[in-house]
Amino acid sequence: MQDKWKLATQVIHAGHEANQHGALVSPLVQSATFTFETVEQGGDCFAGEQQGYIYTRLGNPTTAELERKMAVLEGSEAAAATASGMAAVSAALLTNLSQGDHLVASKAVYGCTFALMTEQFKRFGIEVTLVDFCEVANIAQAIRPNTKALFCETPVNPHLDVYDLEAIAALAKRHQLVSIVDNTFMTPLLQRPLSMGIDMVIHSATKYLNGHGDVIAGIVCGTEEMITKVKLEVLKDIGGVISPHDAWLILRGLKTLDVRLARHCDNAERVAAYLEQHPQVARVYYPGLKGHSGYGLLGKQMRRAGGVVAFELKGSFDTAKAFANRLKLFKIAVSLGDAESLIQHPASMTHSPYSPEARMDAGIGDTLLRISLGLEDSNDIIADLSQAFEA
Ligand code: PLP
Repeated sequence: MQDKWKLATQVIHAGHEANQHGALVSPLVQSATFTFETVEQGGDCFAGEQQGYIYTRLGNPTTAELERKMAVLEGSEAAAATASGMAAVSAALLTNLSQGDHLVASKAVYGCTFALMTEQFKRFGIEVTLVDFCEVANIAQAIRPNTKALFCETPVNPHLDVYDLEAIAALAKRHQLVSIVDNTFMTPLLQRPLSMGIDMVIHSATKYLNGHGDVIAGIVCGTEEMITKVKLEVLKDIGGVISPHDAWLILRGLKTLDVRLARHCDNAERVAAYLEQHPQVARVYYPGLKGHSGYGLLGKQMRRAGGVVAFELKGSFDTAKAFANRLKLFKIAVSLGDAESLIQHPASMTHSPYSPEARMDAGIGDTLLRISLGLEDSNDIIADLSQAFEA
């Protein structure tokens, strides 16, 4: 019966196991290490001949509950929780790439993902080609004999381009590449890349999954074989594992994900429509608007368009910064998916790791502002934007 539950039910119940006291909410196992009756038992656990927790960097019951829940939600065989979204991005990529390998990734990605691919990977002899994923032909052209993986976000941070996941997955399969998608902006309740043939999904759980702005964490989902490699070949030795307390907070946050997303999306739809008709706005980027390139995939690939809207103001770099500075309800902050509405200026903040040329080439202009719509009343959000425009 549990297998038939809708995702809105699974997000609350999946992964939970009965505990010693019958507590409704699973106890937080805040322990770095686990004890054994005998050295022999410890040895058997290390040798994998006996099941049992050893040390929290290798596994923890609270973390395991989060991993079971995320695997159910994404429809994967397994999941690994990580210390941050970047730990998830790097774990997924490093599991699949070695010295001499090549990665094809989308030109526009979160700024630190861009820095990881273009700066850090260079030091380890991993080659990266960045292309516009809007056209699958661009990706196909970039594939070389040593290409091992494809990576993108969709919708993209910050300008919300949407890529066709079925087409990307089919291309990856034809060339025997591992396809990896960052699903942070959607969560599995709005988009399930694995159901479209993608091999691995990663998340910054810092965002909607936790939803309360008080945790940095990440998730990787994939096959049992792939997640075992993530855990044993990257997380165990590089060490970017989640704290059990953060896993417990995310389990708490996830229970309201479905209802939170409904409000985030409602607010984003209303604000996108408001911005679209505003004379001081040059362009609005939101896949829920008819003119957006991703609109055709709405309903097919994504259930709703999400809670992030980006827009370009008429004017200059300074016009955009001055507008953000005038807002009162919106907080100026990076991150997204929190209860509070947030605004940030990608050119000076999240996407500052790009050179101005690479940023422009990726379609991230000087006057682009990214807003994450919170859970407030949309009338107050619009009133705040209006007073900033009037000023
Ligand atoms: N992926 C996307 C799409 C993001 O927006 C971010 C952070 O903003 C990350 C990954 C990195 O996540 P974290 O900050 O949790 O390391």
